Amino acid sequence: MKSYLRVVSIVLLVCVLFAPGCTINPVTGKKQLTLIPPSEEIALGERTGPEFEKEFGGKVDSPQLQQYIAEVGAKLAAVSDRPMPYEYALLRSDVPNAFALPGGKIYVTAGLFRHMTNERQLAAVLGHETVHVAAKHSVQSLQNQMGAAIFAELVGVIVGGESAQSAEAATRLFVAGMVNLPYSREHESEADEFGLKYMDRAAYNPWGMVELLELLQSLSQSKPGLFGDLLATHPLTSKRIEDVRDIIAKDYSAYSPQMPEPHGQRFEQMRRLMESATKK
Ligand SMILES: [Zn+2]
Repeated sequence: MKSYLRVVSIVLLVCVLFAPGCTINPVTGKKQLTLIPPSEEIALGERTGPEFEKEFGGKVDSPQLQQYIAEVGAKLAAVSDRPMPYEYALLRSDVPNAFALPGGKIYVTAGLFRHMTNERQLAAVLGHETVHVAAKHSVQSLQNQMGAAIFAELVGVIVGGESAQSAEAATRLFVAGMVNLPYSREHESEADEFGLKYMDRAAYNPWGMVELLELLQSLSQSKPGLFGDLLATHPLTSKRIEDVRDIIAKDYSAYSPQMPEPHGQRFEQMRRLMESATKK
């Protein structure tokens, strides 16, 4: 706790000394030190997105399916607290996971989509990842993981128009960092809390988040190997599920888990489409 307070006071001191880098987080209202402006963050996502997608088998080759993921995502993007060029896509990988690149590129894998049983669970994943971008968790975690100086250097090489060769090497380093980027418990609980808010704003039943987390918990117990990557990047604990239930009881009591899901048919159709589009 002491060292946490020390870090906080250093951040605040640096914020006072270097006001331009200090911003108020648009989601949480907390002060934070941000090293890169939104324009660089967006450029970073644009340059590294294609390489990142390759790591997970590329996008699923179905315009209809991609359009569906983009539509559900767009409802959450429209109500987020930070306007960014959000883009949502389905990747071919069988390994269940979801990712948020700095700048707004958000991905869910076929391996995760396969286990969902309704659209509100998909909205829960996309809402959670949207918060990771809106609240700048992706940028902050990379900064923390690589060290601020290396991160700034790497971003400079990737978006700064240096030689194509060094930009390529820097992109590979960045993607490697991004693939296994662990979010802190604090970031995870913020992404859950504000993800629920975005779901409610977009007229999705927040119980989808509880269903999703419970699904992941039971699947990870029966197939621990398969879900290892997802749990390493988005730590899941029973406390996390309890916290989500508590927030719903307090703030979203108008919803119940028994409420019928309005988009059932389309979701089923899309899941079948996904199975045929990813058949080997
Ligand atoms: Zn997360």
